[in-house]
This record gives sequence, C-alpha cells and structure tokens, in this order.
Amino acid sequence: MSFDLVLQAARLPGEPESLVDIGIEDGRIAAIAPSLPEAVEIEPLNGSLVVPGLVETHIHLDKSCILERCSIHEGSLQEAIAETARAKLAFTEEDIAQRARRTLERAIANGTMHMRTHVEVDPRVGLKGFRAVRELARSYAWAIDLEICVFPQEGLINDPGSEELLEEACQQGADLIGGCPYADTQPLEHIARIFAIARRFDLDIDFHLDFDLDASWMHLDEVVRWTRLAGYGGRVAVGHVSKLSALPSKRQIEIARELADAGVAVTVLPATDLFLMGRDSDYNVPRGVTRADRLAQHGVVCSLASNNVLNAFTPFGDASLLRIANLYANVAQLGRLADFQRCFDMITAAAAKLMNLKGYGLAVGNPADLLVLPCRSPAAAVTELCPPSMGFKAGRRSFSRPPAQLMRP
Ligand SMILES: [Zn+2]
Repeated sequence: MSFDLVLQAARLPGEPESLVDIGIEDGRIAAIAPSLPEAVEIEPLNGSLVVPGLVETHIHLDKSCILERCSIHEGSLQEAIAETARAKLAFTEEDIAQRARRTLERAIANGTMHMRTHVEVDPRVGLKGFRAVRELARSYAWAIDLEICVFPQEGLINDPGSEELLEEACQQGADLIGGCPYADTQPLEHIARIFAIARRFDLDIDFHLDFDLDASWMHLDEVVRWTRLAGYGGRVAVGHVSKLSALPSKRQIEIARELADAGVAVTVLPATDLFLMGRDSDYNVPRGVTRADRLAQHGVVCSLASNNVLNAFTPFGDASLLRIANLYANVAQLGRLADFQRCFDMITAAAAKLMNLKGYGLAVGNPADLLVLPCRSPAAAVTELCPPSMGFKAGRRSFSRPPAQLMRP
C-alpha cells in the first residue's frame, strides 16, 4: 500500500511513550501503525504530538477587530452591545469580510479547523454579515469548516423585521439559528420563536444566555423546557450561562444533571466573561466564569471558546483556542493532569460533539484534519501554551510555523 503522505514518528494523545506513523490517502487517515511503507511525501515529526484540529464552537467574526471604533468606559455588557450597535451602522459587506478574514486566518494559524461563527442579523445590518461570512466559508474551505449561526443580538420581539431577516438567512443556507433572550423585552417569547424557526427549518440552536450574575432567576429553565418539548435533546447549546458561576457548587451540580438529561450543551467564554462580569465591584471582583469542567464531570457536553476578538465585548484576542483553554484553567484554579486533559477535550472532542460533527478524531477512515504540536501531551499543550507547528486539512498542509531560534553569540 502506498500513501499520499506519511506523518512519521508522531506521538498520539494518551500514548506518551510510543511513536507511530500516520498514513494519509485521499484526504483521509488510511493507517496508523508503528512503521508504514514509503509514501509520495514523508513528513518527519520526530516525536511531536499529533491531535485532531481544534474546534471553535462560538466566535463572532462579523464584529471582530473593531476595537478602535469603540469607546470603552464602563466595560459593561450594555455598553458593549450599544457600542457594537453604533459601529454596526457603518458596516459594509467588504468591511466585514476584511475584518473576519483577519480573525479567521489567525484562528487557522492557531490550529482551528472547525468553527461555528455567530453572525448578527437585524434591520440595520440586514444580511451583510451573513453574506460576507458565507463567502469566506467558501474561500477558506481548504483550511477550515465554517458554520454560520444567525442570531438577533439586539432582540427579536422588540426589533420588528428581525424575525423575517432570520428566516430569510435560514432559507439562504444558514447552518443553525441562535437567540439572545436577555436582549429582548419579551425573553420567553423570544425563546419560543427561535425554537419555532429552528423546527421549521430543521436547524440546531445555539443561545446566548443568562449573561449576568443574578442567580435568582434564569432563562436556562425555559430553554431546558423547550428542548424537551421539541424533542431537541443534543441539538441545543447555550453560551456564557455566567449566572451558574454565582451559585453554590451543590446547586450547579443539580443543574448540570438537568442539562445533561435534557441534552443541552454549554459553551463557556472566559475571555468575555472575565472582562464584562462583576463590574459592580471595585474590589474582590467576582470572576463570572462558569465551571465548564464541573458541568462536564456531571455529564454535560461542554466546550470552551473565544467569543469575541478585539471589540467592546473583549478588547483582547488572537483567536487561539489553546490560549483560551490555558486562561480558563488558570481562572478555574485547575491543577491536576486530568483537569488539563479535560480543558483540551473542551476545545477538541467535546466541542466537536457539541457541534454534532461527523468523523472527528484520530481514527482510520476519518478526514485527515491533523494538528502538530511541539509537546508530549494535550495537558502540556494547555499548561505550556504550545503554538502549533503545522496543520493538515483533509491531508493537505494548511499552515506551518517554524520554531523560534535562539541566536547565540
Ligand atoms: Zn457570543
């Protein structure tokens, strides 16, 4: 048997002491064995770690890289929405495409190969964001699978015309639909209508949810209720749920069991939550980051994601998921090897499960979406923040990063 490409002497997760060859044929993993015969091309890895491409479940490409157009005084959620709404009035399709491309290319170079991007739809911006990002999905398919979740960031019932535009985007091929009930004057009706559109177009749902630290009420109950009612278990995800971070761990675990049972997945977005939450305190500031690792231990499908890059929601960012996993582990005060492994899982396999990706992972027959990391284990990738050295999308090299060199005198 001859391969198009063999990655030679690769280290696999969970097998730190042995090296294998990975044979790639027609864009798929064709064999994994201690030693494979000659191939058209051989890439010696000398013991570098090979993992499946990283999975970004929640990022806003359309409003990334607008930091210089926003003024941040409070650092609150309300301010971020208002500043973005103002900046959005000047968005053109070309402007959105340019900024989104910049963020997308950084994500690719940082190892992301699957991405769900949330795109805003409302009567002011119309479908400009949707159209711009859809074009990028086509032109970057060589490096990344990009799926589009259209959603009304400024509300639905309170913003006439939004619902029609969402439906239009769904007709034109949006991959799934999102909701933002906290931004609406009628949040419960908002949730009901999003479920109604999703069911009509047979699309999965990803909500922005419960974005504050008042745990005396939450929309999470309503999402769980609708998920059960609609038979949508395994097709609904919620992002942020920062309210959960304000609850005692015993109550968090009870809610985790309910989410797991209903099939509602959770994405935690530490960079944004750390920036926006707890602004009422000027000392002993609460972190506002929900413990995804704890929810995951109790059966919830959880992912960690970037959310925003260089805007009023998050004035930081390089679209690196390893950095987000490292940030989360640090904030959540994790210290055990198994915890770091779980953080890595939440940007790879668990994130793929949240997105219902097919054929994900290091197995013969799956697409050869492979990332090479200059370290020995996924845990080390998180603790040491190892920048990926190269990536292969469907067996073709999609990027490389030469190692830094010390120039001794
Ligand atoms: Zn978001």
